[in-house]
Amino acid sequence: MIGPKPAEGALTYAPIAPEDLPRGLTDAQAPGHYRLEPGPPDRWFDYVVGPHSWKAWLFPARQKLFSADRTAAGFDLTAHEDPYPPTAFFGVRACEIAAIEVQDRVFDNGTFADDGYARRRAATLIVAVNCARAAETCFCAAMETGPRARQGYDLALTELATGTGLLLEIGSDRGAAVAARLALPPADPARQVEARAVSDRAAATQTRRMPQDVAARLSANPEHPQWDDVASRCLSCANCTLACPTCFCSDVEEVTDLSGAHAERWRSWDSCFSIDFTHVHGGPVRRSTRSRYRQWMTHKLSSWHDQFGTSGCVGCGRCIAWCPVGIDITAEAAAICKGGPP
Ligand code: SF4
Ligand code: SF4
Repeated sequence: MIGPKPAEGALTYAPIAPEDLPRGLTDAQAPGHYRLEPGPPDRWFDYVVGPHSWKAWLFPARQKLFSADRTAAGFDLTAHEDPYPPTAFFGVRACEIAAIEVQDRVFDNGTFADDGYARRRAATLIVAVNCARAAETCFCAAMETGPRARQGYDLALTELATGTGLLLEIGSDRGAAVAARLALPPADPARQVEARAVSDRAAATQTRRMPQDVAARLSANPEHPQWDDVASRCLSCANCTLACPTCFCSDVEEVTDLSGAHAERWRSWDSCFSIDFTHVHGGPVRRSTRSRYRQWMTHKLSSWHDQFGTSGCVGCGRCIAWCPVGIDITAEAAAICKGGPP
C-alpha cells in the first residue's frame, strides 16, 4: 500500500501500513509556499496534495530499461523490469485521478504504448479520498477535475463531519470485492447528501480560475510581452515540471562498466526547462528561459489538446506552491489572454 507519509516537512507518497496513516495534519499553501501544520486532531484527511504525485510509482523517476553483455559472437540484450506487486494507492485525490488518466493517454495509447506503465497501472487499486478542504493554490473546480472524484477509482472515501464517520463508495468490480469483505451498513441517503456537500464546500473556497479560451489564446500569442515578463522571474529550475503529476518528459542514457563488457540503458525524468532537453546538432533549440517557459505553458494548456485530446493541467496547484519564486500558471494565463490578438 502506497499512501501519504510526512517526511522532511511535507506529505510524500511512500509504502505505509494502515496504522501509519497521518491524522491531525493540514497544510498551508500559497505561491512559493508549503507548510505541513497541525490540524484538527480527529481529522484523517484535512491535508491536500504535496510535492509528490503518483506518477513516481507508475512512471518511476529513474528506470533501467535493458542491459547488454559482451559475448564471443557480439552481445546479448536483456530487457529489465522492476518488480511491481499488486499495489493499492491510498488517498488519491480527484485531481490526481484526472492526472493519472492524462498519463494513461500518453503512455497507454497504442501508438507509443509503454508496457511497463500498462503493467503497473493494471496492478494498481485506487482508493480515492474526496477533498473536504482545498488549499489556497487548488483550482480543480475550474478545471472540472475535482474536488469530488467522479470516475477512475475502485473505492472512494469521504470524511464526514468530525466524529460522524466516513462514506465509502464503490467504483469498480475490484472495489466491490474489497468492500464485500468489510461488514459495513448501507449508507443512508442523508449521509450521501452530506458527502456531496463536503466537496461542494471545498470547491466553493477555490478562487483561482483558468481563462475559458486559454488554448486558442496561447497559441495565437507566441510574441506576447508577458513571455518576457515571466522569463525575468523564472529560474528555469524545472521544479514545476517535476512536481506536476502530468509532465512526462524523459531522457535515456547509456552507462558501461570499466571493462566494457556490460552496458545498461536507463530512462530518467527530464524537463523542458533543462537547456539540454532540446540539444540537437548545433546546440539546443530553446536557448532562452522565455522560450522554455512558453513551451511548457503552451504545451500544457494548448497543444496538449491537439496531441492527447485533453488539457495537460488538472488544477492541482503544485507548480504554484513549489515554484521557488511563486510563479502562478493561472495568473500568467490570465495575463496572456487579456492582451494580444484573439
Ligand atoms: S500545470 Fe501545475 S496546476 Fe496544472 S497539473 Fe501541473 S502542477 Fe498541477
Ligand atoms: S516556473 Fe518556477 S518552478 Fe518552473 S522553472 Fe520557472 S522558477 Fe522553476
